[in-house]
Amino acid sequence: MKITTTASETHVELGTPTQPKCDFCSRRPVIVCFKTTPAELMMPDEGRTVTLASDAHWGACADCEPLVVGRDRDGLYARCLELAPAEIRDSGTARFGMRLIQETMFWAGFRGEQHPAHDEHDATGWRAESPEEAT
Ligand SMILES: [Zn+2]
Repeated sequence: MKITTTASETHVELGTPTQPKCDFCSRRPVIVCFKTTPAELMMPDEGRTVTLASDAHWGACADCEPLVVGRDRDGLYARCLELAPAEIRDSGTARFGMRLIQETMFWAGFRGEQHPAHDEHDATGWRAESPEEAT
């Protein structure tokens, strides 16, 4: 999954590197890719409107995969929150935003489809990364 953020003049891409991170909790490796529908979410932010756009493919790690398969929305959110950086955990707005993104951009269009993580990477927005970006 690739989330694109646009707000008036700024255009920020939160791309997923070649060795993809889990689109839910950001851990590696990704073992499966879940298919949902592309989504857009528009949110007002300090007087402007920020648009988040995501594609249909959301990679998941071995720990998130059973939560998605089991439709455990609360469990998945709790796991992501636990593993999120402090600036997200400590911000009510960021916590709400994370839940909102999962609910509206993933769960709303998810019909149980999945495919192996190594398929379709080129077509699904996983970008090449320069070596110094690797962690
Ligand atoms: Zn995960």
